[in-house]
Parts: sequence; structure tokens; C-alpha cells
Amino acid sequence: MAIKEQPKSPRFRIIANILLAVSGLFLLLNLFLPGLFASGPTGVPYSLFIHQVQEGEVNRVSVGQNQILYQLKTENAESGPVFATTPIFDLELPKLLEQKGVEFAATPPPKNTWFTTLLSWVIPPLIFIGIWQFFLARGGGGGGPQGALSIGKSKAKVYVEGESAKITFADVAGVEEAKTELVEIVDFLKTPARFTQIGARIPKGVLLVGPPGTGKTLLAKAVAGEAGVPFFSISGSEFVELFVGVGSSRVRDLFEQAKKQAPCIVFIDELDAIGKSRSSNGFYGGNDEREQTLNQLLTEMDGFAAGDATVIVLAATNRPETLDPALLRPGRFDRQVLVDRPDLSGREAILKIHAQKVKLGDDVNLKAIATRTPGFAGADLANLVNEAALLAARNLRQSVAQEDFAEAIERVVAGLEKKSRVMNETEKKIVAYHEVGHAMVGALTTGNGRVEKISIIPRGMAALGYTLQLPTEDRFLMNEAELRGQIATLLGGRSAEEIVFNSITTGASNDLQRATDLAERMVTAYGMSKVLGPLAYQQGQQAMFLGNGGANPRRAVSEDTSKAIDSEVKEIVETAHEQALEILRQNRDLLEAIATQLLETEVIEGEKLHDLLSQVKPVTNS
Ligand code: ADP
Ligand code: MG
Ligand code: ZN
Repeated sequence: MAIKEQPKSPRFRIIANILLAVSGLFLLLNLFLPGLFASGPTGVPYSLFIHQVQEGEVNRVSVGQNQILYQLKTENAESGPVFATTPIFDLELPKLLEQKGVEFAATPPPKNTWFTTLLSWVIPPLIFIGIWQFFLARGGGGGGPQGALSIGKSKAKVYVEGESAKITFADVAGVEEAKTELVEIVDFLKTPARFTQIGARIPKGVLLVGPPGTGKTLLAKAVAGEAGVPFFSISGSEFVELFVGVGSSRVRDLFEQAKKQAPCIVFIDELDAIGKSRSSNGFYGGNDEREQTLNQLLTEMDGFAAGDATVIVLAATNRPETLDPALLRPGRFDRQVLVDRPDLSGREAILKIHAQKVKLGDDVNLKAIATRTPGFAGADLANLVNEAALLAARNLRQSVAQEDFAEAIERVVAGLEKKSRVMNETEKKIVAYHEVGHAMVGALTTGNGRVEKISIIPRGMAALGYTLQLPTEDRFLMNEAELRGQIATLLGGRSAEEIVFNSITTGASNDLQRATDLAERMVTAYGMSKVLGPLAYQQGQQAMFLGNGGANPRRAVSEDTSKAIDSEVKEIVETAHEQALEILRQNRDLLEAIATQLLETEVIEGEKLHDLLSQVKPVTNS
């Protein structure tokens, strides 16, 4: 990759590292020196040594506790070979040596050791002193207040736009919606003037939200690559380190560097590590360090105005719900881009990208692999390709075969099932029937937009599958029949489960909540109940503030009225439930057909879906 890592002062780091390595080496040498020495000279039997002394071949001897070292005579007496032997308790030895005129001492001859001793004892301290001075010099020479040990310096890695292998949008697949949104950011970075000259404010922060491994980091790099700007990257967890006060100075430093290189991208991975809601710190006083870091981040983001520097902060998180609301305010991370798990065609595209790096056999069918891997994120697919290649190599194949992929899928799935939500076959089937149920009831009743897409790919963080309905026109008024139709559609999912599996799962709770809310509003706000008449039983004003969801507080009503409301709501929901059941019962074959197809392709949309749903027969009363 054409990625240049650019720490604060690379040369300094390299020198320091070399010095450390050298001094470590000497320490090791010092430790192992006796051992080295012992195994150095050739060992000989004591008898041979005595023989050699008697023959007058020995020049000098060093008698140690465990070893006798001796040097033979040669023409050049100084450099004769050294031998070692194991001493035997022999009181005659000194006498013999003296007799033969051999130079001897009780310690090893100094010639062999003084030099290494000196090296091993004197040099390491010298090196440490050297390093220390280096730090000091650097601190004095403009390293700033953090100079001496440089703790606070940002460890941001800078990926400068590379010539050879920069990452672009072509390297990211299966997240088309996210890409579309980020194209705009690329424009901002490329030609900021176009936007600022007419007074538009360039967004400062974009939050990439999505499950792990879906390509958030990759997308951020691709934005930098497409725009050709430097990319500063730092991970939230790196901020939260040892020393108090370090995190915030690191943030400050990071933005200082970034502003110098504007336009550029600052990427904060794992934003939730610093951006956790300050109120959620709990009882124990929270984490001051993280709070300071977060505050500094907010200050920095507020600090750069649109005019002076185009620094766009991208951040990634898979837990947006834990983020401090202050981070999401306008002028901060006010844009959020969902990076979701890929659908079938997305998975195929991702596999294609990663398969380029390995040799594929002729029998490999990437589409079939994509079909078998619902719920896999991009990283899982990249991992899958690599696993398959490893298996192929282990089987001594020249290229990766389809069966390698089959085996790799099993391995990866086994790993994934533990750590995340890959639906098993049964769950997938239930979700498929559930969604088809919504779609079919929705197709027959009024008041629902047209059903545009059904999917059983786990999306986002909550839903297992979903049915997308788009309004065919803007609607401001709804009549009673339409509202009842909406309620029936909401119950369609659960009804399908009842019919097909004869049991109910927990998956429908959100549907039921919404259906009940809607029914309650019909009765209490819209006056659609014949029993209760055109009275508003809710306190009207608050509807504006509460938005679409919850029911408003009830007006003070008598107990009888309250009971009547409850029974009316129940009646509406139950009627709708019956209607949904009836539609699905009478179209049972179609339900099976569409669900089977959905299980195969995971997504049905557009014309194909309209065709299928147009076959739903209206309910006939018999
Ligand atoms: P995240 O940051 O969302 O956790 P990453 O961007 O770190 O995920 O993805 C890890 C790796 O998985 C990437 O380097 C890439 O090889 C692969 N990958 C993930 N998503 C995609 C994708 N949408 N297209 C292609 N490759 C992907
Ligand atoms: Mg990442
Ligand atoms: Zn549902």
C-alpha cells in the first residue's frame, strides 16, 4: 500500500530504537558471556592436558573454579590455540607447571576478558545516558511542553495519498448508499471553494455507523483516496491511555497537524471509546480522562470555521446509541451514514474484489458463495476468501476450488455464530414468511404505500428483515379504511408466522406496538369509533412535540369510557388480525412461493415484486 507512516520525527525514533537495540545486545552479551567463553575453546581430557604440559607444549594456563584454560605454544606464542579442560583436584599441578616453566594464574588470562568486560559494563550506561541526552536536547529544541518524553504527541498515522495503490471507492462494494453520500464529501474536499463562495457551510463531521467489519474504515480511506488528500487516522481507544491529560493533548495535537495539511481528513475510529455519553458514566464518578478528551474533541470541532481550513472529521462507530448527544449536534457529527451489511449482490461484488488477490479455479461460482453467506460483513467475506486460499494451499492445489470455499464457509460461520448475529436456517425461514406476510397483506389493503422491497438480510442493529413501503403519493388525510389497512399490514407478519409455523416468535413485538398505537389513536384522537363518537380523548397539543410515535396522555375520562376505549382498540386490532389471517390463508400457495423465492435471493424488489404481489387474490367471503 502506498501508505506512509509519519510519526512526529521518524529519524529520531529510528536512532533511539537502534541505540536501544545495541544496548540490549550488550546486556545479553554480558549475561551470557561466561557461557560463551565456556563453550568457546575446544575441550580436552585432563590427561591430555597433563601430557601436553609434560611435553612442554603449553605456553600458559589459567586455572579457574570449574575450568582450566590453556594456550599452546606456537612460533608466535601470543596467538596459539586455546583449549579447556575440567580440573581435577590435583595439588601437584602448580609444581608441574612451574617445573615446565609455564606461565600460570588462578584467573583467566586478562588478555581474553578485559575488553569484553569493559564493553559489557561500561557501554550500556553510556548508551542510556546518550538516549537521555537525546531526549533532553529534543525537548529543549522546540519539542514543546511535552518535549522530554513526548507522551502527549498524537500517534495519528498519516496516510498520504499514494501513487501506486491508493484505496478508492472501487475497493469498496456492497455499500452503495453510503458511497453515494460520501461522494459529496469528496466534492467538498476537492473543490471547497465551489461551496464556500456561495456561503454554504461545509459539513465538519460525518459519522459512519454500522456493524463491525462492514467497511467503515475502508470507506474513510477511500474518501481520502478519491479526493487525493492526506488521511489522519487515530483510534478512539488509543486516546484512552495511561496518563490523565494525555488524551486531550493528543486531540489538540492531532487537529494541529491536520490543519497544517488541509484540506484533509481526520478519521477517528471507535468514536464510542471517547464519545460515550457523559451522563452514562454511572455512579462511580465516571472517567475524567475520557470526558476531558471528549470535551477537547468538541472544542476542536467547533474551533475550525468553514473559511480557514477544510478539515473533515470522519468517525466510525458500531454503537451510535451510546454516543454523547453533544457529538451529534449541528456543526459536529451532524451527518450520519449507515454502513450496513451487504445484500446478496453486494456480497458477490465484495467477493469479486477480494478474489482478485487469489488464484481461482474454473469451478468457482462466487454467486453461489454469496448466496450461502447471508449476514456476512465485508470483513467476513475477505476473511472467507483468505481461508479458502489457505485450505487450497494446504491441499496442495494450484488454485482455489469451490470445495475450499464450502469448507471455509463452515469455518467462518462457526466463528461468527459465536460472536454475532448470523441467522440460522430456521430463523431465516421464519423471517422470510414474516416479511412476505407484511407484503401480501400490504398489497391487498389500502392505506399502505406500494411495497417496494422485501429483505431478510439483517439490517442495522435491530430488524432481522424488513418490508419497505413507499407512498405512491403524498398523503395528508387518511380515512378509516386506510388506517385499518395499515394495522392489518402491521399484523401481516405475525399472521404469516401463525399460519405457517403455528407458533409466534418474539420478532413481531415492534409491529404489535405500532398497530396498537395506531388503533388507539383512531379511537381517542380521530373519533373513528362508533361507540365512543367524535370525541377527542387525548390532549391534543402535545401531538406536535411527541412526533409520530406514542399515544398522548389521555384526557381525564371516566372509568367506563376508559374501558370502552380499551375494548374498541382491541376490536380494531383483532378485526385487522382476522383480515390479515384471511388474506394469507386464501393465498397460501402464493405465500409459500414468494417466501421460497425470498429465501433464495434474500431480497425481492421492483418490478419482480410488483408482479408477484399483483397475484394476491382478494378475500372472498364464503
Ligand atoms: P470496519 O471499519 O467497518 O470495522 P473495515 O473497514 O476495517 O471494517 O474492514 C476490514 C476489511 O474488510 C477491509 O480492509 C476490507 O478488506 C474488508 N471489507 C470490509 N467491508 C468491505 C466492503 N464493503 N468492500 C470490500 N471489502 C470490505
Ligand atoms: Mg474499522
Ligand atoms: Zn414485522
